[in-house]
Amino acid sequence: MERVEIAIIGTGPAGISAALTSVNRNKKILLLGSRQLSEKVAKAHEIRNYPGLPAVSGAAMAEAFRRHLDQMGIEITEKRVGAVYAMGDYFALQVGEEMLEAEAVILAGGVVQGKPLPGEEELLGRGVSYCATCDAPLYRGKDVIVVGYSPREEAEAAFLSEVCRSVLYFPMYQEETDLPESVRVIREKVTALSREAGRLQVTSDSGVYSADGVFVLREAVSPGQLVPGLETEGAHVRVNRKMETNLPGVFACGDITGTPYQYVKAAGEGNVAAISAAGYLEQKKRGGQNHG
Ligand SMILES: Cc1cc2nc3c(=O)[nH]c(=O)nc-3n(C[C@H](O)[C@H](O)[C@H](O)COP(=O)(O)OP(=O)(O)OC[C@H]3O[C@@H](n4cnc5c(N)ncnc54)[C@H](O)[C@@H]3O)c2cc1C
Repeated sequence: MERVEIAIIGTGPAGISAALTSVNRNKKILLLGSRQLSEKVAKAHEIRNYPGLPAVSGAAMAEAFRRHLDQMGIEITEKRVGAVYAMGDYFALQVGEEMLEAEAVILAGGVVQGKPLPGEEELLGRGVSYCATCDAPLYRGKDVIVVGYSPREEAEAAFLSEVCRSVLYFPMYQEETDLPESVRVIREKVTALSREAGRLQVTSDSGVYSADGVFVLREAVSPGQLVPGLETEGAHVRVNRKMETNLPGVFACGDITGTPYQYVKAAGEGNVAAISAAGYLEQKKRGGQNHG
C-alpha cells in the first residue's frame, strides 16, 4: 500500500474529527479502526452535551458521524493497529502481518479501561498476546485461552478456533456470546495470569486453566505498548496544547490524552491534532523542524 501523509488510529469522535480536518487540509489519510465506530459512542443511552445534537442517542450520533464521513468521501480501513514504529523519515504501522506507512500518525484510540491483570505485563511476549491476527500462527495446532473485554473480540476468538487445537473464551462482559461451537465459553471472572512448567495459566474466581498461549483482547492497548518510546503518564499520552507528543510526527487526541472523558473534548482535540499534523508535514516539506 502506498505511503499516506497521515494515519489516524481510532474511529471515535477524536479520530473522526481528525480525519475530517486532515481531509479539509488536503492530506492523504488512512483512518484505521472499526466501521461500527467506537463502542463508547454506540452504547451511550442519551447524550446531552454535544453542541447541535440535543438529547441524541449514541446510535444516532454514530449514524451522524458515519454520514459526515461518507459526505466527505472518507473511508474507514477496518484494521487494528498492533504497533507503530518510528523509521526516521516515516512511521511503519503493524497491522496483522502487513506493514503500512505514514509520514505522520494521530493516536485516537481512546483510553484503556482498568488495570492490567496480575501477571499480564510480565508475560507479554512470553505467551501473552494482544493481537490474534498477528500471533495466531505461533499457536497453530495448540491450545489457547482468550480473555475478551467486549463482544467485538469474539471475531478474533472465532478466527483462532480455525487455527488452534482448542480455544477457551472468557467473556469479561455481560452480553450473550455468539461463537462457533468449537469455542468453549467460560463465564468466570479472570483474576490472574501466570506461567507454570512452560504453560500459561489463567486463574479465575472458580478455577485454574492452562494453555500454550493467552490472548488478552481489549478495545485498546496502552499507548506505550502501541508506540515504543512514547512518553506516557499512567494510561495517558503526554501532549502539549498542539497535541504533539514527545515523538516528532506523532500526535494524540481524545480520551487517550487524559480526562475529562467527553465527546466534545475528543472532537476538539482531534481537530487540533490534525491541524498540527498538517503543519508538521508542510514544515517538513519545506525542510524545517517545527516540533516543540
Ligand atoms: C456508556 C457511556 C456513555 C457516555 N456518555 C457521554 C456523554 O453523555 N457525554 C460525553 O461527552 N461523553 C460521554 N462518554 C464518554 C465518551 O464516550 C468518550 O469521552 C469518547 O468516546 C472518547 O472519544 P475518543 O475518540 O477519544 O475514543 P473512543 O470513543 O474510545 O474511540 C476510540 C476507538 O479507537 C479504536 N482503537 C483503539 N485502539 C486501536 C488500534 N490499535 N487500532 C485501531 N483502532 C483502535 C477503539 O476500538 C475505539 O473504537 C460516555 C462513555 C460511555 C462508555
